[in-house]
Amino acid sequence: MEYRKFKPDYLFDGSQILNGGHVLISDLKGKIIDVVTESEAGNGTEVLKGILSPGFINAHCHLELSHLKNKIPQKTGLVDFVVTVISGRHFPPDEILSAIENTEAEMLKEGIVAVGDICNNTLSLLQKEKKGKKKPAHSSPKKEQHMF
Ligand SMILES: [Zn+2]
Repeated sequence: MEYRKFKPDYLFDGSQILNGGHVLISDLKGKIIDVVTESEAGNGTEVLKGILSPGFINAHCHLELSHLKNKIPQKTGLVDFVVTVISGRHFPPDEILSAIENTEAEMLKEGIVAVGDICNNTLSLLQKEKKGKKKPAHSSPKKEQHMF
């Protein structure tokens, strides 16, 4: 079996942050095999700047309302909020679909790898059908935040 070895400045293993003396070992598909000390890892370690972390989960999202980002006044109360959301549902579908795509890209960029999308219509289904066609967040060499 072939492996990849990652040595970040810090490694979050899901329960604690380990210092830079640790190496995460994965198979070539990204399945985590082990976390070992640097001295146990041997050669071929890829050094990463920043924190290596499991991907984040957005457990409650309304992708269909992405087009309303920054369009709802804050601190106006629940009634005004709901009225604004309901009245804002009637945008051109292309604008809504574009906002959904942009929101998903923004979440991936920030390390969110799974979303609980609360749907009241089918507008976000097209984006969901694209699943598996995107590169994982950790593949970007410029990022200093790495997800597994
Ligand atoms: Zn909600």
